[in-house]
Amino acid sequence: MLTSRAVVRTVEAGNSAMCAHCGAQVKFVARAQLRQVIANVYEAGEWKRVEHFHADCYTEAGEPYGPAAERS
Ligand SMILES: [Zn+2]
Repeated sequence: MLTSRAVVRTVEAGNSAMCAHCGAQVKFVARAQLRQVIANVYEAGEWKRVEHFHADCYTEAGEPYGPAAERS
């Protein structure tokens, strides 16, 4: 059974995703290592969508898809 999961990624140039929590764009800022959380959302075992969050917003939202995994 596939379940939703979240990972932490650095925000890259050209990123235009909107944060699923606050609705603002997850923007790249030069010289700032901003982090975002990207969640693959599954419902009833089927992939539904990808959601993006500011890293802080994901925490504030109560980690809806579980703790975000750090890429090693
Ligand atoms: Zn946000």
